[in-house]
Amino acid sequence: MKVPLADLTREYKELKSEIDSSISKVIERCDFILGEDVHKFEEEFAKFNGTKYAIAVASGTDALRIGIMASGIKQGDEVITTPFTFIATSETISQSGAKIVFADINENDYNIDPKDIEKRITKNTKAILPVHLYGHPARMKEIMDIAKRHNLIVIEDCAQAFTAKYNMESQWKFVGSMGKCGAFSFFPAKNLGAYGDGGMITTNDDNVAKLANTLRNHGSSERYLYEREGFNSRLDTIQAAVLRVKLRNIVRFTEMRNKAASKYNELLKDVVKTPSTGENCYHSFNYYTIRFESKEIRDRVQKHLNENGIANQIYYPVSLHLQQAYKHLGYKKGDLPVVEKIQDEVLSLPMFPQLRDDEIEYVSEKVKEAIKVRC
Ligand SMILES: *Cc1c(COP(=O)(O)O)cnc(C)c1O
Repeated sequence: MKVPLADLTREYKELKSEIDSSISKVIERCDFILGEDVHKFEEEFAKFNGTKYAIAVASGTDALRIGIMASGIKQGDEVITTPFTFIATSETISQSGAKIVFADINENDYNIDPKDIEKRITKNTKAILPVHLYGHPARMKEIMDIAKRHNLIVIEDCAQAFTAKYNMESQWKFVGSMGKCGAFSFFPAKNLGAYGDGGMITTNDDNVAKLANTLRNHGSSERYLYEREGFNSRLDTIQAAVLRVKLRNIVRFTEMRNKAASKYNELLKDVVKTPSTGENCYHSFNYYTIRFESKEIRDRVQKHLNENGIANQIYYPVSLHLQQAYKHLGYKKGDLPVVEKIQDEVLSLPMFPQLRDDEIEYVSEKVKEAIKVRC
């Protein structure tokens, strides 16, 4: 049996008539740039996420870039983030002129470790940039407390975590509604995926919203009048039309992901470390990631899955602090021991809302088979 990591065609089949008609309407109106669906999608997204504003942009990377700039991060500032993430998290920090400071992660949910953040704060630290990895919220209570004590801002990378929630002092909050701003990605394989690139900035801050709104459109709020330089980074109206249809189904899709995760957990809990969901967290399961006792077992399982037609992925095989791109930052092996261990032990299995029970059973069986053959 062949099992894909994510099969987007199944979702399209389910929503085809609505999506096709939604796209056709945009083509009939020809309001391709910042059209009606973009504004409506922004309103609906902000309402869903519980933030005052949502500003749609061309990608998740641009949501981070513009969110960082609009929050006032500049040359000479230091931003503390996790090295266990996609490079968009860190490249947008450097591209703003600020310096990346990597903190280690924790062993349970693989997100940034608040205790290690605190050790890395200097007089130049301006912000903390947690990533809600795989769809599991970072430890926001501790992070917000540290930020408050040290007068730092918090920017949330929510690219993998739309619909994930965190219980902050007995109140459930969606990711992207706790920090100064949140950055979301609509890359096709993310929880809420477009039919191309797209992203969103969420914020409750009037100034950040105003700045983000002009930065995405060449620094202009009135045509051919520029308050500053900006970017060409708007969400296409056609993408917004697709995303509006999907947004209406997203709660159900996340529930389906959680159901698939529970089934995997049940079948695999005795042989691997299954994803642990923190007490104060609701997981959006963008990825379903298991962990093995050693790199040797992980690699053996991966090989066995490949041989049996089961797609899989290592998010992420080399921590950012050890990448060539960050040689100049001066980190060396041994500096961030937890992430250096975890990167060798994780493996992500097929995960999407329409994943079937027989596929989960087949994948789990193959994982177990490979673990059992001890050489
Ligand atoms: C996907 C992703 C991004 C970037 O989003 P794009 O839409 O691909 O630009 C940023 N951070 C993380 C953690 C991601 O997974």
